[in-house]
Amino acid sequence: MEQTLNGQVTLVTGASRGIGAAIADHLAARGGTVVGTATSAAGAAAISERLAAHGGSGRVLDVTDGAAVDALIDDIAKTLGPITVLVNNAGITRDQLLLRMKDEDWSAIIDTNLSSVFRTSKAVLRGMMKARQGRIINIASVTFSGGWSDLAPYVQSKGALIGLARAWAREFGAHGITVNAISPGAFPTDAEKIHPDLPAYEKRIYEHQAIQRRGSPADIANALMFLASDASSFITGQTINVDGGWVMH
Ligand code: NAP
Repeated sequence: MEQTLNGQVTLVTGASRGIGAAIADHLAARGGTVVGTATSAAGAAAISERLAAHGGSGRVLDVTDGAAVDALIDDIAKTLGPITVLVNNAGITRDQLLLRMKDEDWSAIIDTNLSSVFRTSKAVLRGMMKARQGRIINIASVTFSGGWSDLAPYVQSKGALIGLARAWAREFGAHGITVNAISPGAFPTDAEKIHPDLPAYEKRIYEHQAIQRRGSPADIANALMFLASDASSFITGQTINVDGGWVMH
C-alpha cells in the first residue's frame, strides 16, 4: 500500500530540530498538512520556512502549558480541520543520579515528556473520534528497555508513553484510532550533548547495536510514516524499536 497522508492535518511537537524536524519534513513531503512546534518564535518561523513548500507551518508551543496546548489545537481545527495525526515528540532530559536529583528537575522531565502527552492527546481525541480516524504516535526511548540508572525520571517518562499507547489503543480502537510508540536508540541530535564523555558514549552505542552505523533521524521518520499511514491500520498498542538492533524481544 502506498504510504501517503493525503492532506491529513498532522501535529508534530518539538519539530524545530533533531528527530522532530526530520519527522515533520518527512510527513509533509508525503502529503501531510503538517504543523510543527517550537518553543520560540524564531524556531517556529524556521519550521514555517522549511514546510512552506508543502503547505505546512510552524507554531510556538510550550507543551507544559495546558491552556496553550488547547488553544493551538483549537485554532488548527478551526483553520485546517481536525488533527488526525499527532506525533508526541517533544522531550527533554537532565542526567542525574537519584540522591542528587532536585524536585524541579524531576517535575520538569515528567511534565514535558509525559503530562504533555496527556494534554495533547486529550485535546485531539474528540476531533479524531468525530472523524473516525486517528493516529497517535509517542516517541519513547531505548533507555526504558535498558533502565539507565543516571536517567531515572526520563526512563520512567518514556516507559509511561509505551504504557499509554497500550491503554489508549484499547480505549480508542473501536473509533478507528490507533496509538503506537517508537522507541529510538541513540541518535546524534542536540539531546546527545548532555553526555559528558561523547567518545565513551559512542563506544557504548556500537557495543549495543547490531548495525554498526549511527542512526539518523530519517530512520525514525521512515518508521513513523508507516505508523501514520493507512498501511499500519491493523497495528495498535505497539512499540517499534528503531535502534539498529539494540533491543530485541
Ligand atoms: P532535541 O534535539 O533536544 O529536540 C527537542 C525538541 O523538543 C525541540 O524541538 C525542542 O524545542 C522541543 N521541546 C523541548 N522542550 C519543550 C517544551 N517544553 N515544549 C515544547 N517543545 C519542547 O531532541 P531529539 O534528540 O530530537 O529528541 C526528540 C525526541 O526523541 C525526544 O522525546 C527524546 O526524548 C526522544 N529520543 C531521543 C533520542 C536521541 O538519541 N536523540 C533517543 C531516544 C529518544 P526547541 O528547539 O524550541 O527547544
